[in-house]
Amino acid sequence: MKTTSFDLEEKRLKKEISKGKIKIVLVQLPEGLKAEGTRLAALIEDAGALAIVSADPCYGACDLALPDAESLGADLIVHYGHSSQTKQERVPTIYMEARAKISVKEAVKKAIPLLEPWSNIGLVATVQHVHKLDEAKILLLEAGKTVAIGDAGLVKYPGQVIGCNFSNAQSVSEEVEAFLFVGGGRFHAIGVALATAKPTIIADPYEKRAYPIHDEVPRILKQRWASISEAKEAENFGVLIGLKSGQKRIKEAVKIKEKLQKSGRKATLLALREITPNALMQFPNIDAFVNTACPRLSLDDTPSFLKPILSLNEALVMLGEMDWEELCRKGWFEN
Ligand code: SF4
Repeated sequence: MKTTSFDLEEKRLKKEISKGKIKIVLVQLPEGLKAEGTRLAALIEDAGALAIVSADPCYGACDLALPDAESLGADLIVHYGHSSQTKQERVPTIYMEARAKISVKEAVKKAIPLLEPWSNIGLVATVQHVHKLDEAKILLLEAGKTVAIGDAGLVKYPGQVIGCNFSNAQSVSEEVEAFLFVGGGRFHAIGVALATAKPTIIADPYEKRAYPIHDEVPRILKQRWASISEAKEAENFGVLIGLKSGQKRIKEAVKIKEKLQKSGRKATLLALREITPNALMQFPNIDAFVNTACPRLSLDDTPSFLKPILSLNEALVMLGEMDWEELCRKGWFEN
């Protein structure tokens, strides 16, 4: 996908910098938009401030670079690609959602035949496409469907989903038979299918195609069950604390560590920014991990890790404090 397909709100950026006494700006971009960093930096410098582009990975609004901005002396963070998620007063921050400028029509039209078995459809999108949900809704209504766009009030826009929050989809799940996800890639749509246990079709406006994703859910569940079973045999656990600003859950980590110890296992708290196979390989005496940071890590990256990595709720299943059925019903994104 071309980076020019997104609205990077250059005029707003210039205006924000020109109007204040901003001296240093830290720019954060998701991986697909990093290439725009040099152009945005030049634009910021034209407007009178020094620009520093963060070259570190940035996967979500959970990863607001607050400590980096503080250590660099930045008076503004410009965070691209995500909607605001958590309130903070440490460093002034502007969120630029990078809305997609492309049409969703062709992809949605291609999804309609795939939605043929169902009449009641839930409609969801990433923040890049939420402004196109009404357009998608009209196409579905014209095809004879009824359409629900959920608003649970936990994310910024009705119908919006983020990688670890599908509350808008869950809020209408009872009243719909299937979901149509408008957006690129499989990551968010798999989350919708897992969080709702409903058939889910992707309408990908970048590739201008539509395809089902729910067939992948049984494979993921099988992998998760295998990881829980393997972790049951483990004696020595590492409990992972994410150091990213929106992922740090120290209380939950300490609580699960105590539960593991109470069950006769050993447990050590480990804090890190990027949870990678290589980082965990440095602890060969640890048999299994419980991850209190990004919940997608356990779900999506299972094959890359050599040891089981359980989410908090999966650890509760392992300890016999939660049923597998309950986890499958509502627990994948509630840790
Ligand atoms: S915690 Fe994970 S899924 Fe949630 S916003 Fe952050 S990176 Fe995305």
